[in-house]
Amino acid sequence: NKETSSNFIKTIMQEDLLSGKRDEIITRFPPEPNGYLHIGHAKSIALNFGLADEFKGKTNLRFDDTNPLKEDQEYVDAIKEDVKWLGFDWDGLHFASDYFEEMYERAIVLIKKGLAYVEDLSIDEIREYRGTLTEPGKESPSRSRSVEENLALFEQMKEGKFENGEKVLRAKIDMSSGNMNMRDPVLYRISHTTHHNTGDTWCIYPMYAFAHPLEDAIEGVTHSICTTEFEEQRPLYNWVVENTDMPVQPQQIEFGRLNLTNTVMSKRKLKQLVDENVVDGWDDPRLPTISGLRRRGFTPEAIREFIYETGVSKGNGAVDVQMLEHYIREDLKLKAPRTMSVIRPLKVVITNYPEGESEMLEAEINPENPEMGTRQIPFSREIYIEQEDFMEDPPKKYHRLYPGNEVRLKHAYFIKCEDFVKDEEGNVVELHCTYDPETKSGSGFTGRKVKGTIHWVDANDSKPAEFRLYDSLILDMEDEEELEGAEEKTFMDLVNPNSLEVLQGFVESNMNDVKAQDKFQFFRHGYFNVDPKHTTEEKPVFNRIVSLKSSFKF
Ligand code: ATP
Ligand code: MG
Ligand code: MG
Repeated sequence: NKETSSNFIKTIMQEDLLSGKRDEIITRFPPEPNGYLHIGHAKSIALNFGLADEFKGKTNLRFDDTNPLKEDQEYVDAIKEDVKWLGFDWDGLHFASDYFEEMYERAIVLIKKGLAYVEDLSIDEIREYRGTLTEPGKESPSRSRSVEENLALFEQMKEGKFENGEKVLRAKIDMSSGNMNMRDPVLYRISHTTHHNTGDTWCIYPMYAFAHPLEDAIEGVTHSICTTEFEEQRPLYNWVVENTDMPVQPQQIEFGRLNLTNTVMSKRKLKQLVDENVVDGWDDPRLPTISGLRRRGFTPEAIREFIYETGVSKGNGAVDVQMLEHYIREDLKLKAPRTMSVIRPLKVVITNYPEGESEMLEAEINPENPEMGTRQIPFSREIYIEQEDFMEDPPKKYHRLYPGNEVRLKHAYFIKCEDFVKDEEGNVVELHCTYDPETKSGSGFTGRKVKGTIHWVDANDSKPAEFRLYDSLILDMEDEEELEGAEEKTFMDLVNPNSLEVLQGFVESNMNDVKAQDKFQFFRHGYFNVDPKHTTEEKPVFNRIVSLKSSFKF
């Protein structure tokens, strides 16, 4: 994998190694298995694995599974698959839930030091007592409990003597701290819920703010990279590690989240789209999930290149999705075979081509990469072209087919439109053209020129195919501003009702044995991926990854 560009996290690591503060770099990627990974996670993955790699360090994949209500084995499996697919290998594979016993012991260390107490107040009361930014909090009556009483009550919590919400364990820090996180945060809560890993062993579960620093410290993580929303939690992170007597003190470092335009990037929102069947599963090609991008046809190379170019900063700005599209075009330019498809077919009869005859035409597979060789394309008396390549009454500068006009069929001959047939509703359903055998592609014909080149497939020897064209899942933010003021509008109101268009057409017959995830460039239509979910032997389904042209400027 490519080096990470120089950035402030890398600088900290370099300095720590030089000064002898650390003698190796250990990082971790710590997803909560409560959903599928998205491209924002890919940024965290690339950073954690990339940086450790550069310093010959180690990176753990750790499932932060401390909330039994939302977590699931399906997510664990999907996350592992996605990390591997992105091209990264973890050193240790861990589950935070494997540390529950140790976390419990560390909570007891705090209680014994008089730094934690069992709270009787309800969550709402705790919130009320906490105060505000301008007003100090109020100390709870439970705060003065003796160490012995706290130890006994905490044990009873563990033994299931209390209902959910009846008690919590809190840190005893400072109810007047300017940092709200330090006003006696909750460390443990009661939840009588079966956990996907530990079953019914536990009915108390550590809160993220307590669990995460311990998980890092237990694994000997040196640099704990997270996103900027945790900046305010850093003092608590340090407090937990120091006061629980952990031998290693990891350093938390925050960077800005990756956001993309015209999409949503939080597992909660993605899950809502999946659960309400707005999309076709977590791997819907419109989603910015890793599995969605894979199914759409993005490659790990393009995603890594994109992430590398977005850099590392403290800012949270949204990156234009066109930048991601730029990198997939770059990656596929030389790799993807070029071929032809007709996605909105219009039949053309070439009236002077002998009936019952056909021929094979040769074409380069990728003119930018001649090593890919050539392919054979059947041609006969009947072909399909795109509906949009014929107009009965064209405007000026329309150089495709219209009555009396001649165009070049890519890789074949010039054809001239002589006549057309309409159905009862007035739609053009068939063209009658003539071809000129002299003009065969590759023959060196220079007798006359035509202005338009169009693509086609043979009507008698082609393969039916489905094409799925995508547009942004979420409409532009300007529309969101218009929505403001309107009551109860959410991101769901911004979902683009036209984000998917499904079309039935044809591809060249030489594409008979395409496999899931194969990628092609269809002449004029862009790059497509063979959909792994809906493709059948009879009919491949092609997801458009991206069209050919972009207006994006760096
Ligand atoms: P979300 O808020 O999207 O549901 P999360 O932060 O809750 O994501 P976790 O599973 O807790 O998801 O995240 C695992 C790691 O990925 C964390 O270290 C988190 O900071 C990082 N991460 C999550 N989203 C992004 C993002 N958009 N950009 C960069 N890193 C991210
Ligand atoms: Mg989370
Ligand atoms: Mg989150």
